[in-house]
Amino acid sequence: MPSTSATQVRIQQLSALIHQYNYSYYCGNSTAESGKSCNDETYDALVLELKTLENQSPEMRTKDSPTLQIKGEPHSSFPSRKHLVPMLSLGNVYSLDELKSWHTAVKKLLGGQSPEYVCELKIDGVAVSAIYRNGVLSAGVTRGDGSEGEEITPNIKTISCLPLRLKDERDLEVRGEVYLPRKNFDALNQQRLKSTEPPFKNPRNAAAGSLRLLDSTETSRRQLAVFIYTIAEGIPHETHAGNLDFLSQHEFPLNPETKLVSSIEDVLEFCRYWEDHKEELPYDIDGIVLKVNSLKQQKQLGFTAKSPRWATAFKFTAEQAATVLRSIEVGVGRTGILTPVAILDPVELNGTTVSRATLHNYDQVERFNLHLGDHVTLEKGGEIIPKIVAVDPTLRSVEAQKIAAPSACPVCGTLALRPEGEVEWRCPNPECPAQQKEQILHFVSRRAMDIDTIGPALIEQLLTKKLLKSAADLYLLRHEDLSGLERMGDKSAENVLSGIEKSKKCELGQFVHALGIANVGEKTARILALHFGTLEKLMSAAPEELEKIEEIGPVIAQSIFDFFQHTEQRQLIADFLERGVDPAEEKILEIRDSPFSGKIVVLTGTLSEPRDVWKKRLIQAGANVTGSVSKNTDFLLAGENAGSKLEKAEKLEVSVIDETAALELLEQISASSIG
Ligand code: NAD
Repeated sequence: MPSTSATQVRIQQLSALIHQYNYSYYCGNSTAESGKSCNDETYDALVLELKTLENQSPEMRTKDSPTLQIKGEPHSSFPSRKHLVPMLSLGNVYSLDELKSWHTAVKKLLGGQSPEYVCELKIDGVAVSAIYRNGVLSAGVTRGDGSEGEEITPNIKTISCLPLRLKDERDLEVRGEVYLPRKNFDALNQQRLKSTEPPFKNPRNAAAGSLRLLDSTETSRRQLAVFIYTIAEGIPHETHAGNLDFLSQHEFPLNPETKLVSSIEDVLEFCRYWEDHKEELPYDIDGIVLKVNSLKQQKQLGFTAKSPRWATAFKFTAEQAATVLRSIEVGVGRTGILTPVAILDPVELNGTTVSRATLHNYDQVERFNLHLGDHVTLEKGGEIIPKIVAVDPTLRSVEAQKIAAPSACPVCGTLALRPEGEVEWRCPNPECPAQQKEQILHFVSRRAMDIDTIGPALIEQLLTKKLLKSAADLYLLRHEDLSGLERMGDKSAENVLSGIEKSKKCELGQFVHALGIANVGEKTARILALHFGTLEKLMSAAPEELEKIEEIGPVIAQSIFDFFQHTEQRQLIADFLERGVDPAEEKILEIRDSPFSGKIVVLTGTLSEPRDVWKKRLIQAGANVTGSVSKNTDFLLAGENAGSKLEKAEKLEVSVIDETAALELLEQISASSIG
């Protein structure tokens, strides 16, 4: 054990360091040039060391020890305001094993009961409280030290997605995270660089700084956004999910990825998924927040001094390594997208040797201002493929060559294009062999036609031997074509052919996904199948008709329409059908005299069954389920706490029905279809 004076010195060192990090992290003035910082894991390790030393020698704990406060002291420029309900911190875990242990502890405290959890993204921004009095937004307050924050009301009112008025005159206090979408952050920093102001280090610092500006016109220009995630005062429901529904009815901006789950396995799956996909979001997240759904159970679990026991944060960890960028390889995707891949000096990362990293697209190359020979930092979180997260421009040689966008497809040599409004460069040649290979690989993949006996090596061989040009040629393959190939015995050839044969009987959604229409993933393909029932109907749908489907916006609608307009695609589909592919029709009961056939129905409010169930039921009864109420809407199916859609429907005199009425109408259909 260290001597008393050594302990005291270490406590002082740690306290000073943590205070500095806190200031840089919370007070929002930290730009790329100022403010001391470290990563969260290091920070938490320092706090743990300080706590341990203070526990061993409590008499040495200083009154302002960072272990006693929630950080982020109120700033003097704004009036301070006490929180009626404290704004607490969250406990955290850094691995899925720790998360499982947290769940075991929760279960134990609940007498063995396994709770439902609400999984939320942990938005990397600034916590705020929005206070409504008589239904009007009357104050916005930062978290501050947890018991008292800064009143930044004019600034919070500039956040356009936050309602200024509620639907009724209730008192309510909601809490959420103010953030700066990445796009706005990039634009803000570019503007600052132009006017020789130092850029912000990250979107969190920029959001914190923007929220504390004394000039709210400037805050408004920064275009902050907010996700509300809890109610502090005026709680209407007995579950967290119920309260989120209530917030949604009142048109608060909620994070669309939030998920209610009933097992720890689903929690782990959610964490894994987002650790892998966080870069796809248009804003930064630094983890996942897990909350026990039942407020009764939350009460049972209670709080520690600084955080609730019924919630925790799973923080993403990312191991990093430094290396040198040697060259760029250009990958060609199935829709012709050209993706830059960094070729690096091999380096150890998370126990594997890494020599390639994805750069996603050329915008990212531009953002890093990448040059050959650059010293780069790699990161590998949950992702399988590591990525470049930082570049050190100070180590760049003056002769270094800047990486330019590709002028031509590296495989077929066709001139590369960047369609207007897109970030991606593309090879526009539909006959490009690289695209053909990727398309066939996608076609046979598990989530498409699921032909697991065919892999990349076999496709490569078949393409080289000109036995394949498109996925439709798979259905022409004969035993003798295969048996002569490398590493292909009789038995393997039979397996390949039987896999192909089996795939002929498929679901319509599966086939639509396998076609590889740009912007149409597995889920959208299923929705399309359910909506149109047959391939023929889908192929002849106009963009306006496609856009009427709730989940389909104008970009996806146009890309589906364009796909089916192409002569080559129509020929390919004809080939598939002629060669025996037989996508099953989805049953849409066209019932004459049905109260729903041909009718436009909108769903709103909390329904007793999942929306997907209702949608399927109504579509099968011939209805067209759309997202918003208009004068063309025939029925609004309204559940509990219906909000603005109900108001609009009443104004437009649209028929409003509840679930019981809808079921009665559906029963009439079943009766008439039997009779
Ligand atoms: P926290 O990480 O303990 O989490 C609580 C905060 O998460 C809330 O106040 C809220 O702002 C936010 N949040 C985002 N999405 C949320 C959601 N869906 N539900 C609930 N809350 C949500 O935050 P904290 O107490 O501000 O900070 C403590 C942590 O911050 C430390 O453990 C450390 O990891 C990090 N930190 C790092 C440094 C550094 O220099 N690297 C400095 C200070 C703090």
